[in-house]
Amino acid sequence: MEWWGTRMTSSGTRPQGFDIARNTPVRCRQYINLSGGMPNEDTFPIKTMTLKLTDGTVLEIDKATTSKALQYGRTPGQFELLRWLTTLLKTVHNPPTLQDKSHPGQFDMLMTNGVQDGMYKTLETLVDEGDIVFAENPTYPGFLAAALPFRCQIVPIEMDEDGLIPEEFSIALKDHSINSGRKMKFLYCVPNSGNPTGICYTEERKRLIYGLAREYNLLILEDDAYFFLQSKPYRKSFLSMDIDGRVIRLDTFSKTISAGLRAGFLSGPKPIVEKAIMAMQTSSKNCSGVSQAILLTVLQHMGHDGYLAHCDRVADFYLRKRDVCVKSAERYLKGLAEWKVPSGGMFLWIKVKGTNDSYKVVTEELRKRKVLMVPGVAFKISSEIPSARIRIAYAFASDEQIDKSKKYRIAALVQEDRIN
Ligand code: PMP
Repeated sequence: MEWWGTRMTSSGTRPQGFDIARNTPVRCRQYINLSGGMPNEDTFPIKTMTLKLTDGTVLEIDKATTSKALQYGRTPGQFELLRWLTTLLKTVHNPPTLQDKSHPGQFDMLMTNGVQDGMYKTLETLVDEGDIVFAENPTYPGFLAAALPFRCQIVPIEMDEDGLIPEEFSIALKDHSINSGRKMKFLYCVPNSGNPTGICYTEERKRLIYGLAREYNLLILEDDAYFFLQSKPYRKSFLSMDIDGRVIRLDTFSKTISAGLRAGFLSGPKPIVEKAIMAMQTSSKNCSGVSQAILLTVLQHMGHDGYLAHCDRVADFYLRKRDVCVKSAERYLKGLAEWKVPSGGMFLWIKVKGTNDSYKVVTEELRKRKVLMVPGVAFKISSEIPSARIRIAYAFASDEQIDKSKKYRIAALVQEDRIN
């Protein structure tokens, strides 16, 4: 029987045999451990786990690994999984802070319960009441909801087809650094195939935005939930440009392996990640051990190249769905609405002509016709300003349903002149 130490809170004393720097338990066979409030795994009804993959492969998770997965785990995440992910990150993004260990930014990583959790942990770690946080406008409403309890001021930065507009960002930074007397904490953005816009920032834009963040000593919270769902070649991430440790990057397996595993990872400057680890310890102790065991088993089976090839297949699936959606929009909505074809992700962001507010159309007229879409105003930082936009999420519906939604529903509405 192997014994594990227990985690201690930030204010607690930690007995020897604990990895104090990481605030996590280490295996300590030489100790008789009567310190922790851990359950005894021998009482659990699950002994091993078997995974059947869609290609027919069967993967066994043995007794020792299962037992470890069922117990409380290391707060930053399972060691082998973090190692696997660090190699993935190096292969895809090659962050400067990972290349040089003596770098002042230094790099670290935390397993999270998806990007949403990583976002919340970042807010918890960095934001106090009254602080300023910049965000692209329109933005992911999950971020607005997460930020609400922290009572920070969210400053909207407008977007165009190449991403966040640097000139607008520069004006806002100048304005708030001179006038508000508040602390500016970070910029939140979804730079690839964003939700709701589907926009991918150009590399030039990213460089300008990163330059402004350096000038004003601001952090960047890079939510790259759709990174692997974009058309190739992959665009350079903010993390891959981060020469001085100001990018906190959020990745997820929700779109490529499973949304239900609730597994993602936060990577970035060590001092911030360490605080996020403390936040994880006090909120949920660690990302589910069972999820991590399943994930690691699948990832190790695929290997890094295999996982990237799998992501390519997933991206192709959604790109084909996008094509179906765009084709039916071209067929039925030409002249009635406008849009830019997204280079990946899950969303078509259409602008309905002949109105400046799509809210009633979506919540009443479309719903009556049994079509659910989201009105543009849901993504605005200030919901008082109406939006003529509608977000069409094409990932889940069948090709036929996607086509039908436009032919019989939106197009009919606009043609019937019910839009105003
Ligand atoms: N960020 C964005 C931009 C998203 O669209 C989503 C999913 N809708 C999330 C985060 C949540 O991702 P996860 O499942 O990893 O928490």
